[in-house]
Amino acid sequence: MEDCVFCNIIKGKIPAAKVYEDDNSITFLDIMPANKGHCLVIPKKHYETMLDIPDDQISNLMKTAKKVAKAISLSVGNGAYNIVMNNGQAAGQIVPHAHIHIIPRFDNDALKLSWSHKKYQAKEMEEFTNNIKKFL
Ligand code: 5GP
Ligand code: ZN
Repeated sequence: MEDCVFCNIIKGKIPAAKVYEDDNSITFLDIMPANKGHCLVIPKKHYETMLDIPDDQISNLMKTAKKVAKAISLSVGNGAYNIVMNNGQAAGQIVPHAHIHIIPRFDNDALKLSWSHKKYQAKEMEEFTNNIKKFL
């Protein structure tokens, strides 16, 4: 897509610190890292969210995320990392080209990726389970 920042990185129109590339994906440093070494793994084709990525391409992307997580752990980290994917505006997705964040973590780095824990009322867990199952 012409006005997509990540498509323009793929085309080479916007520079990026690329760490990995294969036929279907590229990986580069996030320009505003949560921690230094924070990478983004993206499909070369423009898909907006994870659900838009065809099944036969998603496994390649996850394999690449694993490869990069290992490399980050060996290079800058101590073996700890978060893998985050924001899908949709309400989930905090700002760039509408699907991407997987890989963020190296360090002891006491004070990075907050936590959420408050809600409680289910009686029977609600059963309702949620049944509702989700309907769409599988
Ligand atoms: P989102 O909130 O959509 O999951 O995350 C988008 C990420 O893309 C942000 O962490 C942001 O720092 C990163 N980003 C946005 N524009 C650019 C860019 O031009 N170059 C690079 N390398 N990263 C970008
Ligand atoms: Zn794009």
